[in-house]
Amino acid sequence: MKTEALFDTNAYLKDFVGKVISCEEVQKEQERCYKVVLDKTAFFPEQGGQTSDIGKLDNAQVLDVQIEDDVIYHYCASGFLIGEEVHGKIDWKHRFNNMQQHTGEHIFTGVAHNTYGADNVGFHLSDNTVTLDLNIELNQEQIDAIETKANEIIASDVAVKAYYPNQELLGAINYRSKKEIEGAVRLVEIEGVDLCACCAPHVSTTGQVGLLKVVSFGKYKGGTRVYILCGMRALEDYNRRLQLLASSYQLLNCKEDELPEKVSGLIEDNKQLKYRISEIKAGMLNDQIERILPDLTDVTIFMDGLDAKTMREGVNTLVERHDGLCAIFSGDDETGYDFVIGSKTRDCAAIATGLRELLGAKGGGSKQMAQGNVQATRNEIERTL
Ligand SMILES: [Zn+2]
Repeated sequence: MKTEALFDTNAYLKDFVGKVISCEEVQKEQERCYKVVLDKTAFFPEQGGQTSDIGKLDNAQVLDVQIEDDVIYHYCASGFLIGEEVHGKIDWKHRFNNMQQHTGEHIFTGVAHNTYGADNVGFHLSDNTVTLDLNIELNQEQIDAIETKANEIIASDVAVKAYYPNQELLGAINYRSKKEIEGAVRLVEIEGVDLCACCAPHVSTTGQVGLLKVVSFGKYKGGTRVYILCGMRALEDYNRRLQLLASSYQLLNCKEDELPEKVSGLIEDNKQLKYRISEIKAGMLNDQIERILPDLTDVTIFMDGLDAKTMREGVNTLVERHDGLCAIFSGDDETGYDFVIGSKTRDCAAIATGLRELLGAKGGGSKQMAQGNVQATRNEIERTL
């Protein structure tokens, strides 16, 4: 028996009384629960890319709602007797929030369709994100224009109506639809903005959407995927972002508007400091190279904080003065070492291969010089060399 879908004609129905048609104990995602069918329900089941309502049947939590062949199944934490009358109460905050997102999606897609000929090829509404997929590529300017127009439509508080037109009327009008629909077609009309086949609950006037904000968008399957937030979700997101911003400018001890300048100043300072440190380190390396006795054949230097260029220059200097293997390692036992090795007489590529085989080092080079990094301690490296 088909379940009477009360949300179909009244999206604002929060409470109802239904009669239990069937109740079956089932296993759902490793949990025992009850699959309950009523003669009628205000619970919207998961369909058309939108997750289900939540709420209660008497004192039992409704965890999920599904639809199959026009029968609506409530997955409840506890069961009922067949024939029993139960009081259903949907989580209105959750539902109204979904109605805001969903109606916002119609407005946005309607404007995208009317302005740029875009067709909606996908929609997803979960508790965390709202995405809509359009079949053409849109740029920033176009997205901004749609967003502005959508918010104008919200501000003008146009009526949103849902109805089942007769076959004659249906054949004569042009409406948006994501797929071929079997059975009666339910149309959702936002006057002068959009006409679309849809089964979900919507707000009754566009003003109740409150606000529509595009959070991000990008190329998707040859078209565009747009992330939007409406109403209270947009407000929550705004607050979250304000808090992020505030914690950043408080940390940097500046005003909000000075943030970009302050951050780019810090990046520049950091670059200068790194350059200065690398100069100092190069000086320290040269001092150490100068102090090495000239009659030594093999030389290995460990010093942290050296950049690749300084290490190569250091090895070049060492190779001019010493005949054996000249190696510089920079790093520490915790994070591993970068290395450069050079020699007039030894095969550096072969030594790099040896380090790779024995210590799992990465990198390589020529007979004269090789470089890479190794995740090993100084002790292990010295023993291996
Ligand atoms: Zn809809």
